[in-house]
Amino acid sequence: MPPTLYSEEQIAERVAVLAAQIDEEYAGAGQLVLIGVLKGSFIFLSDLARKLTIPHRIEFIAVSSYGDRESETADSVRLLMDVRHAIDGEHVLLVEDIVDTGHTIAYLKRLLGTRNPASLKTATLLHKPDRTEQEVAIDFLGFTIPDVWVVGYGLDYAERYRTLPYIGELPPEMR
Ligand code: 5GP
Repeated sequence: MPPTLYSEEQIAERVAVLAAQIDEEYAGAGQLVLIGVLKGSFIFLSDLARKLTIPHRIEFIAVSSYGDRESETADSVRLLMDVRHAIDGEHVLLVEDIVDTGHTIAYLKRLLGTRNPASLKTATLLHKPDRTEQEVAIDFLGFTIPDVWVVGYGLDYAERYRTLPYIGELPPEMR
């Protein structure tokens, strides 16, 4: 199994802190719309949402992933599945598993921003600042990590390791 970068306990502690920050940020704002970016964010989103005390609803959106594209450019992100309900006038929090180059989150912020939400912020469990190609503000951040390939807690390598309970670093010889 891949060596541990963050244990189940460390993740749970951090997710609880993020949920408390989000509760505070949106207190009294009415219903928050959490939009999870499939597939990688589904476990983070479910843990985060269950820690929130503010009213919220869940949406999902899906974009092309690394497996679908050879080289990552700002134009190569594709929308595979859209949210079900309109978000105009709503407070929206985009929930990502990991921000790597920043192209995905930049694309989604641009797309959702055209739909006139009352506000649009981003939460990501992991961020690899060394890989940044496109700067996008991250409002709620779990952990900053080095340029390694991580798996587990929703994150995969060719669909493997996604349901590992911890976040592991996948060494090149395991790929
Ligand atoms: P970006 O558009 O920021 O370059 O990439 C975001 C997407 O790339 C993430 O949502 C995720 O699907 C994938 N990704 C980037 N780094 C990793 C990683 O270390 N592990 C896994 N499993 N996926 C990653």
